[in-house]
Amino acid sequence: MTSLIKKISLSNSVSIEQLGFGTFKIVDQQEANNAVMTALNNGYRAFDTAQLYNNEKILGEAFVNSGVARQELFLTTKVSNLNQGYEQTLKSFEQSLKDLQTDYLDLFLVHWPLKNHFFDTWKAIEQLYETKMVRAIGVCNFHQSHFELLKTRANIKPMINQIEIHPYLVQKELIEYLNKEQIAIEAWSPLARGRVVEEPLLINIGQKYQKSSSQVTLRWHVQKDLIVIPKSVNPLRIAENMQIFDFELTDTEMQQIDSLNEDFRTGPNPDDVYQKNGF
Ligand code: NAP
Repeated sequence: MTSLIKKISLSNSVSIEQLGFGTFKIVDQQEANNAVMTALNNGYRAFDTAQLYNNEKILGEAFVNSGVARQELFLTTKVSNLNQGYEQTLKSFEQSLKDLQTDYLDLFLVHWPLKNHFFDTWKAIEQLYETKMVRAIGVCNFHQSHFELLKTRANIKPMINQIEIHPYLVQKELIEYLNKEQIAIEAWSPLARGRVVEEPLLINIGQKYQKSSSQVTLRWHVQKDLIVIPKSVNPLRIAENMQIFDFELTDTEMQQIDSLNEDFRTGPNPDDVYQKNGF
């Protein structure tokens, strides 16, 4: 199948598909098998998981069951808050590889910035990159202040920041900063966990293109050059989320969607997690 998905080149020239597949809350083996198989049949190749999701093992099984060659996949996982710190990060990475039934990862991320383990976790991740255990490294939920702090001691700049972005949390300033720093941006909870479905403006724009409000939302992400990772276990919605490459929003529509911003988060504020060293 020829993929319609554009690739985004990271600062180290590794490329990642702009539309990937989220897996948060998939915790049943049968459900994982079905979701992975449906996603693959619809053209998804990049999969996002995390140690915290407690599903690396069932996903590893699902990837093997799918019969798709490992090098065709782009696998991302994240070190969980409880596994942060130099030794623990390295140890947990080994476990992630084992559970995902692979001998390398495409992308390994710090899941949340934590005050107590801020530099030693990154040191371990740099080591995994330098020893070629992982093709690219990055962080999630970092604000500008976290990047400025990391700069004071890091050898390698994170290649990606995975952050919450949807029409109710547009993150204008942070996006501008990351673009300036040439750090690729990956949007989590792109559908605001389903909230966009009922949004009148998105429904209205969608009618013009015969698209759903979810498709309009994902198209908005793609036109901002963001990487986006919607999650679904529903075969129709998995297919629907892929059908976003045959229409284009106008500049006015892009701005109208931007104006839905209300700085609303579905998840915690990273500054609070950093200060509390966890949730
Ligand atoms: P999301 O993708 O915004 O929304 C998922 C929800 O929307 C599910 O309830 C899904 O239900 C529903 N949905 C999916 N497609 C739909 C469609 N076309 N129409 C209507 N409803 C639809 O939220 P998310 O799962 O929180 O975020 C996506 C991924 O980002 C996660 O799975 C995870 O991989 C990652 N993430 C990362 C972080 C981080 O801190 N780095 C935090 C949260 C999430 P069905 O499954 O029933 O379709």
